[in-house]
Amino acid sequence: MTIEKTGIPKNLVLTSGSFLNLLNTLVNTFGSAGESMIYQMGHENGMVFCREVVSKINNEGESLENLFVRVINSANQIGWANMVVEEFNPQNGKIKVVLQDNSFKQFCLRLNMPQCFFLRGYISGIIKELTNVDYQFSRSECYAHGDEHCSIRLVAED
Ligand SMILES: [Zn+2]
Repeated sequence: MTIEKTGIPKNLVLTSGSFLNLLNTLVNTFGSAGESMIYQMGHENGMVFCREVVSKINNEGESLENLFVRVINSANQIGWANMVVEEFNPQNGKIKVVLQDNSFKQFCLRLNMPQCFFLRGYISGIIKELTNVDYQFSRSECYAHGDEHCSIRLVAED
């Protein structure tokens, strides 16, 4: 007897190879516009994720930094990377997150181009949701550029 599935499943499983293939297809087809799409997908995803996390926690009296760290820690459980907030200074428009145990590491290294674009967008989406300010990544480090880790530095747009 087969059971017909109704509705949308809660989780979809995609191998990292397939995910990488999707990212590569975008970049190979659209060049830097493809990178922007990956970033944008991450951004939207980060905003939705942040909204969900914040709606479930009691955040009364919580500082913006604590809230940001809590959302990042929740995102860490997804397993893309262990993201560590190294600098949090939204007043000066500067935020730095270092990616440890980064799932994209081998991809960034092997393909010689940043595959961590997705997470750059993801983190910018989280901070956008929390502050309603647009942040852009700048001087972010990546294995693809010979740096010792991938890190994400965000600065507020003027
Ligand atoms: Zn990278």
